[in-house]
Amino acid sequence: MALLDRARWYDLARTTEWTPRYVEPDELFPPEMSGGEGIPDEAWSTYDEPYKISYREYVDVQRQKDAGAYSVKATLERADLYHKADPGWISILKEHYAAVAVVEYGASFQEARFARWSKAPGMRNMAVFGMLDEIRHAQMQLFFPHEYVNKDRQFDWSHEAMFTDNWVTLGARHFFDDMLMTRDAISTAICANFSFETGFTNLQFIGLSGDAAKAGDFTFSKLIQSIQSDEARHAQLGTPLLQLLIESGQKERAQKLIDISFWRSYRLFTVLSGIPMDYYVPLDVREASFKEFMEEWIVTQFVRSLEDLGLAKPWYWDLFLRDVSEHHHGQQLGTYSWRPTLWWNPAAGVTPEERDWLEEKYPGWNDTFGKVWDVLIDNFAHGRTDRTVPGTLPVICNVSQLPIVGTPSQTLRDISIVHEGRRYHFASEVDRWIFEDDPERYRHHRNLVDRFLGGEIQPADLGGVLQYMGLGVVSDGGDDAHGYAWVDRYRPALATTG
Ligand code: FE
Ligand code: FE
Repeated sequence: MALLDRARWYDLARTTEWTPRYVEPDELFPPEMSGGEGIPDEAWSTYDEPYKISYREYVDVQRQKDAGAYSVKATLERADLYHKADPGWISILKEHYAAVAVVEYGASFQEARFARWSKAPGMRNMAVFGMLDEIRHAQMQLFFPHEYVNKDRQFDWSHEAMFTDNWVTLGARHFFDDMLMTRDAISTAICANFSFETGFTNLQFIGLSGDAAKAGDFTFSKLIQSIQSDEARHAQLGTPLLQLLIESGQKERAQKLIDISFWRSYRLFTVLSGIPMDYYVPLDVREASFKEFMEEWIVTQFVRSLEDLGLAKPWYWDLFLRDVSEHHHGQQLGTYSWRPTLWWNPAAGVTPEERDWLEEKYPGWNDTFGKVWDVLIDNFAHGRTDRTVPGTLPVICNVSQLPIVGTPSQTLRDISIVHEGRRYHFASEVDRWIFEDDPERYRHHRNLVDRFLGGEIQPADLGGVLQYMGLGVVSDGGDDAHGYAWVDRYRPALATTG
């Protein structure tokens, strides 16, 4: 039987709008779930999904994508990447899978909420496919690391991480709960699909796939390309909503949602992408610096998509441009120093050649961050390893939930406010602005330091903190990825100093 061309039936088949007779429209689409106040009822059917596909076509394409990625994995399993790759690369895999796999499962709920609560029929239809996409991403990113679990129990974190109270998890979960899970359908699509997915997943998935291929990890490269091809499709869900908001006179609201979600996404990705790209990827296979990736994917491409819609750059743009050269270097120093609290083994990434590369990509690095590393290196080289791990907890930002860091002797300062009798600390003016815009959303969250000072973590020492974070149960916390072999490079020069 001849099949009708999709274009001849698609519009009719996806027109699933009707007028409810047994309930009020607000009962069918409660405003707190659906959003979109002030947008006229007739406008929703004008939502024109930028990507049209039938279920038959979808299944066929996805099956081919799965077959491609799984067959590369099966073929290369015997290549023993785990033992052959640079340990820094293995750390990237551990960090990535744990921070992403279960979150992808959460993202299927994000899409499922659109499928139920969005008032735009075209969006509901697209979101069903988006939901299936995210289930696929979760399944793959749980299955792929599983081959490493019997070689290295830190890979257990691929599944375990999101169910623990590890500090990195607390930051990631706070972000994803805010962006993906706890806002109405319209706001979620702008925060998660437009800002986070069109902006930042590109960074991790396209940026790292080039590095992966160069590092010889074709399995990971193929996997994340396969995932990104889905993201590139369902990320587009938010754009027609922005148009609807702007047309109905709510440009300011649209802009604010972007300003919030852009900053929150950016700060999380300094840890997720920034540190690995500039410190963990072996130097000889680094495709570009984090800053260069940011300039290509964010400064150029994301801004273009904002301007196409008639929206502006976020208000803190100048601050952001400076931050791109700084913040992740501070987070690298922080995560490396608190390495026993990580589920992966961080690479230091500061051999003399690597420092030359950092100085070239970030002029001034040696005079700022490099000086802190000089102290660490001196301690390592003289056997004072105990002095390279802090004995206290860092001050944590009450929005990003990440340690507050800055450029040594330049930008580090405390930004805090007292709200209803409690003091809140922030890593930047932008984080404070996000908090003050909606204190009720953020003020109840207790960060790791709050929990420690509140007596929730017992015994109140490093051992107790590690146990609270889920370390030492199935696997131990992190230690230097290269077993400190890189310190040897500095020993001859330091031998003469005291
Ligand atoms: Fe996904
Ligand atoms: Fe997605």
